[in-house]
Amino acid sequence: MSVASRAVGEIVERVPKELFIGGAWRPARDGRTFEVTDPATGEALCAVADAAPEDGLAALDAAVRAQESWARHAPRARGEILRAAYELITERREELAVLMTLEMGKPVAESRAEVAYAAEFFRWFAEEAVRVEGGYAVAPDGRGRLLVMKQPVGPSLLITPWNFPMAMGTRKIGPAVAAGCTMVIKPARDTPLSMLALAAILRECGLPDGVLNLITTTASGPVMEPLIRDGRTRKLSFTGSTEVGRTLLAQAAGQVLRTSMELGGNAPFLVFADADLDAAVDGALTAKMRNIGEACTAANRFHVHASVAGEFARRLADRMAALRVGPGLAEGVQVGPLINAAAREKVEELVADAVRRGAKVLAGGERIDGPGYFYRPTVLAGVPRDARVVGEEVFGPVAPILTFETEDEAIAAANDTEFGLVSYVYTRDLNRALRVCERLETGMVGLNQGLVSNSAAPFGGVKRSGLGREGGRAGIEEYLELKYVAINLA
Ligand code: NAP
Repeated sequence: MSVASRAVGEIVERVPKELFIGGAWRPARDGRTFEVTDPATGEALCAVADAAPEDGLAALDAAVRAQESWARHAPRARGEILRAAYELITERREELAVLMTLEMGKPVAESRAEVAYAAEFFRWFAEEAVRVEGGYAVAPDGRGRLLVMKQPVGPSLLITPWNFPMAMGTRKIGPAVAAGCTMVIKPARDTPLSMLALAAILRECGLPDGVLNLITTTASGPVMEPLIRDGRTRKLSFTGSTEVGRTLLAQAAGQVLRTSMELGGNAPFLVFADADLDAAVDGALTAKMRNIGEACTAANRFHVHASVAGEFARRLADRMAALRVGPGLAEGVQVGPLINAAAREKVEELVADAVRRGAKVLAGGERIDGPGYFYRPTVLAGVPRDARVVGEEVFGPVAPILTFETEDEAIAAANDTEFGLVSYVYTRDLNRALRVCERLETGMVGLNQGLVSNSAAPFGGVKRSGLGREGGRAGIEEYLELKYVAINLA
């Protein structure tokens, strides 16, 4: 075994593989486990506990037990736990990045970036923990007084996806800890290791027993539904597909739970004739290829003014074709494998459908044979509006290019989707930029930039991309309730 692969083995070895309930690591009640695989090889990395519904209930019991004392914990003390965790994640960034690449596939440079981004949520919410303010006002009639206080929502269920295995967790755990909520978190079955490592770090940083409870399972529905329907749960925060989000919202309706939903996207990337084309191509590469295209914020379709579409397509195709594809841990690799066989098959279907409808392949357009789920970075030109690749979330390294003639036409095409997470706009005309930003039906806009994620900004979507915001000043509000006290001074 080489030194490098021995180091990799040790990194996986060090991660706890059990359920974390009430401050203790323990196996699933029936002793079951499931394998976590490396998408670059299709081989098993290790096995982790496979929770059954009774384990889920034990985790909720622990969260409920811890809630009252956690809510009374001093805000500064809560913030300092997050700050310590921020420091420790930063210190262990390299090891955490390798772990993330092993289970998720992204190039290790991108994993480093995600670990840093994930840690930033803890730093931000460490600072927010001591800034929870209420209000005091004289009633309009001058007699009464209106006191408004903010209190933690209570035990929260957090469900996260595989594509950003750590940041999607810290974006929820950070504000929950800061606000004084206890929680049960369930990471995706494909990528439980980053979250297990994170739970160990939070424990090391002094998070009290029962505040964070972590369950890994292959039975997401049967394990989570009883918790969502349990009268002691107060909140559900979910990041994942719109389809699952809708199911969970229906389940949450029974208990009238507070919900935060970060769901799917279908981001349009608009390039106007006056755009700086070099900047637009750079931005397109970031917006499309970050995370191998497996991001809710990924540019899904490129709407380019007809006068520059040919040049834009040619430059983007050259850049995409030059990207180095391979296992995420290999030196210089820029594009890793897709998460699993089904994800690659879906990408293949979407490309085949577009080609059948007349699209031209300018780069890529095929899988790479051998172990792992690799697909070549692909650019499609002349894509018709009704191609599936335009209407569905691609979640892979495929850039379909369409053309437009007028601003109205571009905006109508951009908004022609059930999703509304993010859009990207490239133009050098300030008036046009503001006009277009106002008319786009998305929760976020990247204006002359291909990356919007920032711990200090309110991340979230409109339409079927979700409810609520994560990060920024708004992030902690999702975990706070307002209580109004009417005061009679008479
Ligand atoms: P997914 O299939 O919806 O799964 C997300 C999470 O929900 C996973 O932990 C999954 O567990 C769990 N889950 C699935 N069915 C469930 C059920 N019936 N009850 C309870 N939990 C259930 O999504 P994904 O494929 O992991 O992630 C990709 C999707 O997430 C894309 O649509 C992407 O746009 C979206 N996303 C959105 C944002 C955002 O901020 N808006 C960010 C990242 C990703 P299992 O792993 O066991 O299936």
